[in-house]
Amino acid sequence: MSVRILIPTPLRAFTNQQAAVPVDGATVGDLLRALTDLHTDLRPHLFGPDGTLRTFVNVYVNDRDIRQLQRDRTPVHATDTVSIVPSVAGGSGAAATEGPTLTRDEVERYSRHLIIPEVGVAGQLRLKQARVVCVGAGGLGSPASLYLAAAGVGTLGLVDFDVVDASNLQRQVIYSTRDVGRRKLEAAAERLTALNPAVRVVAHETPLTSANALDILRDYDVVVDGADNFPTRYLVNDACVLLGKPNAYGSIFRFDGQASVFATKGGPCYRCLYPEPPPPGLVPSCAEGGVLGVLPGLIGTIQATEAIKLILGVGRTLAGRLLLLDALSMEFRTMTVERDPACPVCGDHPTVTALVDYDQFCGVVPASTPAVKVPEITVEALKAAMDQHKKIWILDVREPREFEICRIPGSTLIPLGDLPKRLSEIPQGADAPEIIVHCKMGGRSAKAVALLRDHGVTNARNLTGGILAWIDRVDPSQAKY
Ligand SMILES: [Zn+2]
Repeated sequence: MSVRILIPTPLRAFTNQQAAVPVDGATVGDLLRALTDLHTDLRPHLFGPDGTLRTFVNVYVNDRDIRQLQRDRTPVHATDTVSIVPSVAGGSGAAATEGPTLTRDEVERYSRHLIIPEVGVAGQLRLKQARVVCVGAGGLGSPASLYLAAAGVGTLGLVDFDVVDASNLQRQVIYSTRDVGRRKLEAAAERLTALNPAVRVVAHETPLTSANALDILRDYDVVVDGADNFPTRYLVNDACVLLGKPNAYGSIFRFDGQASVFATKGGPCYRCLYPEPPPPGLVPSCAEGGVLGVLPGLIGTIQATEAIKLILGVGRTLAGRLLLLDALSMEFRTMTVERDPACPVCGDHPTVTALVDYDQFCGVVPASTPAVKVPEITVEALKAAMDQHKKIWILDVREPREFEICRIPGSTLIPLGDLPKRLSEIPQGADAPEIIVHCKMGGRSAKAVALLRDHGVTNARNLTGGILAWIDRVDPSQAKY
């Protein structure tokens, strides 16, 4: 019975560079003896002089360590996968050989690349000639661009038009505290150039739109999608498919991350995975839902890894696979993604052959029906009504964690999701006060006003701009988030 043993890269020198070796045996011990009979140079790396397995080599059957099973007597079956997992210190002290077309400084800087067979001088030159663009210089773009610059990618484009905000610093590690208020691309270019002066940073200080996407992305070999909204995701995807540029995709939310590679030759695209965006408001953005600060570090670094593999043409990229990360359980899973022959962009008979209006496609600006329209009140009018002791009742429909950060004095907290079952708490009747509903920016509270109206509460108004407008224009002493 033949079982596959996966060989880690450091040991492939002893297996003729094979990543997997099929061998016969009924137990792990049988397999390892058969493996080292087949590749005798491997034996001293796995076994000590006394014939016992070396302690720094761990062996797994599927995802179980054999020390938790029956050690080398652990039985194996044809469907099992056996993995050898040696301890790896990282880095190496070996000397580099000088390449003909890298400068002396470059040889020193990239020496840890030059001694990896998969990179070497030829690969480093490929990186030097490569052009990668990061769409978004935020949570994902920060680690991705830092590692790409460090790796020696010759031309690095950045697309963003934002200004550094204090709330960015929890995850956007390319920026420092002193950068708050600066233009992101100015600060990012300075940091990347300080890290590696040989990298040419190209700043595209503009929102990516249907009008400019093809012109901007056309000049690059690989696109790193670090967007934070659905219209830009679909825009980047469609532009990559139309241009034939691979897209190293990553997305994050709270503790969950995703990564893949789209729009490779014959591979699936983002629309094959998600043909349509969710309706606006169903999936909260990071600004509304939050994100663990280190998570974009993990996913953005994976995007940079995939971009580098695409440039070098080594390994197996995430094309055709979706990597899912749950940082709470720290589990990585990969799902298969297949190209959909009926995909409107990359399918056999594409119907999308030019860029469209992505705000409309994603429902951000509805084509015909306007968004929930409800009576509104400005923060100034609310402040005046409070000062005049008018009869008002302020309903805050945010989450308790948001309420802890800042609040309008005298407000009552009922999160939007709880509102339907807590309607009895809303003051009603002939002399009930006017109800002012607010949230962070006015979106959730507009839904709440509509919900109240549907349940017969007709004297409710939405606070335009939410508590952020209140803090900006009435009470700057409170913290924004
Ligand atoms: Zn597709």
